[in-house]
Amino acid sequence: MSSVLFSMNNKPDNIVQMRRAILRDLTSIDTGFSTTPVSSIHASTLTRMYQLYDRLFFNGYLSRTYERIDVTMSSRLLKSAGKFIHHPHGPYVRYAEIRMSSDFLFRLKQGPFELNGLTASTAQEAFLIVFEHELCHAAENALYGSTGHSERFLSLAHGLFGHTKTTHDLPTRSSETAEKTGIVVGSRVVFPYEGRSLSGIVSYLGKTARVMVPDPRGTYYLKNNFRQRYLKYQVPLSLLRLAQ
Ligand SMILES: [Zn+2]
Repeated sequence: MSSVLFSMNNKPDNIVQMRRAILRDLTSIDTGFSTTPVSSIHASTLTRMYQLYDRLFFNGYLSRTYERIDVTMSSRLLKSAGKFIHHPHGPYVRYAEIRMSSDFLFRLKQGPFELNGLTASTAQEAFLIVFEHELCHAAENALYGSTGHSERFLSLAHGLFGHTKTTHDLPTRSSETAEKTGIVVGSRVVFPYEGRSLSGIVSYLGKTARVMVPDPRGTYYLKNNFRQRYLKYQVPLSLLRLAQ
C-alpha cells in the first residue's frame, strides 16, 4: 500500500475517463438526470455521485476523514452553483454538507458550458465539474483545516480535476435572461396581466422582475418623479418584453 492519501497529480486523460465513468453510472441509474434539460435528480444519485468521486479520485480519503458529507439540492442557491458548508467549531466537526443549486442544474440546456477553466459539453457534466470544485473545498478543509480560493486550493483543484480557475460567479438567471432580451433595471417593458397588457419600468431583476406600473391607485413613487404613482408587480422574466 502506498502512503499517499490520494493522487494530486492526475493526468488529463485519466480525469476525463473517470469523470465519464461517473457520468455513465449516474445517468444509467437515474432517468430524470439523463434528460436534456435535466428534469429531476434522486437524492440517492447525489449520494452515489459522492461515493464514486470519493472512491475514484480520493482513494476513500473523504469518507475516512469525514463522518458524513451530505450532498443536497437547494432551490435557494442562486448566486453560485454549489456550496461547501462546514462548521469547524460546532459539535459536528466531522460533518459537512455540499449544497448544489437546483436552479443551476435544471436551467442548463445545450452546452458547451465554461466553468472552472474547463469546457463541459452537457448539463450533467457541468454539474459534476461544479461538484468537483466543492469536493476540493472538502479535501482542502480536511487536509489543512481551512479552505478558500488560494493558490493552495487552485493547485489541489488542478492536480485532482484539471481545473484552472475558480468560477463561483456563474451567470445568474437574471443576468443571463437580461443578456438575451436586453432588459435591464430601468427598461420600459410590457407584460400580460389578467388578460390585459401592462407597461412599466423594471426596478429590480432577480429570480423574477419587479415592474413599477403607473397607476393612480399606486402607493409607490419612483425617484425623480413624485407626481406619478405606481403599482408594483412581480413578473416572471419569461413574460417580459421590451416596450417599443
Ligand atoms: Zn469555491
